[in-house]
Amino acid sequence: MRWALIGASRIAANYMIDAIRSVEGSTITAVLSSDAARGADYARTHGIAESYTDLDRMLAEAEIDAVYISTTNEKHHAEAMAAIAAGKHVMCEKPLAMTVADAAEMVRAAAEKGVVFGTNHHLRNAGTHLAIRDLIANGAIGNVLSARVFHAVNLPEVLRGWRIDNPGAGGGVIPDIVVHDADTVRFHLGEDPVEVVARQTVSGLGQGVEDSAMSIWEMPSGTMVQTHESFTHAFAETGIEFHGTKGSIVARGVMTQNPVGEVWLTDENGRKSVPYETHGLYERSMRLFHAAARGEGRPSADGVDGVKSLAVAMAVKAAADSGKAVAVDYGGF
Ligand code: NDP
Repeated sequence: MRWALIGASRIAANYMIDAIRSVEGSTITAVLSSDAARGADYARTHGIAESYTDLDRMLAEAEIDAVYISTTNEKHHAEAMAAIAAGKHVMCEKPLAMTVADAAEMVRAAAEKGVVFGTNHHLRNAGTHLAIRDLIANGAIGNVLSARVFHAVNLPEVLRGWRIDNPGAGGGVIPDIVVHDADTVRFHLGEDPVEVVARQTVSGLGQGVEDSAMSIWEMPSGTMVQTHESFTHAFAETGIEFHGTKGSIVARGVMTQNPVGEVWLTDENGRKSVPYETHGLYERSMRLFHAAARGEGRPSADGVDGVKSLAVAMAVKAAADSGKAVAVDYGGF
């Protein structure tokens, strides 16, 4: 499969270029950047044959089957719609769009065109999370009473750009991190939050967007979910916990881009460490995407997963802004 990168981004440079190339028969032939010089430099640095500044031209000229979209969030919708119209498979970064309606339109357009659409939710590819999901699905902790997500991090200096000062580009910890937590909780529990309450703060890291949030989600089964996301916590450890009628799963250091962390299961027999596989998260995501494009299976997180994670984040934002409980609107999905 021949790929074009839409966006000369850090996530592509740090993870996705290698992940795409890790799949046999996969090449990256072009990159799109709004800046010709940076695009050319990025192409040279990463061994990509061509760089473009015009999306329509790239879609018309470059020999590509698929695009990976990792521009800032406000650009995803228009870029995905253009790529889908050109018949390209799309792997899109989270959050898929600035509104649920836009995200739903992208996903419906891909289905109508018959191209594969994936959302780059990496966490559900982690060996840790796959092991946790298996434990829950196999009844290791019985009925799940509650879940807690700890996703308060220290935003690296290099990422303190649009994420902390540009709401128009999709900045803010809620669009950035709540979407991942929503996808991960949905992945583990196999159900979608119905209603949320939330609080947010702006601690001064940036301007105009929230840099910390806490929320509580009501699930159809009655499981209580509590989440904490932040850009300002230099020493907090990430983690996720599920507590059930027969046991508890506690995981630390697992809300991360790398195959690391620890998972423990505690039940009537005591506490034991849970083994897990240590493959690359993004590599697995790309393997499953390629298989889906061959007609085998589905992407790890598909377009509907991306719409739903965005819908939860939008509800959390509306709840934090209003101080009221907000029903999650899944845009018809
Ligand atoms: P970057 O800030 O690195 O890239 C976003 C855009 O900024 C690029 O498309 C590029 O524009 C421009 N840009 C990048 N580097 C520079 C630079 N040195 N100087 C000037 N402009 C620059 O964003 P991220 O890679 O952090 O995020 C991109 C997308 O990926 C977002 O949607 C984000 O939410 C998502 N993401 C997902 C992750 C995941 O694990 N799934 C992790 C990190 C991000 P141009 O293309 O026009 O050159």
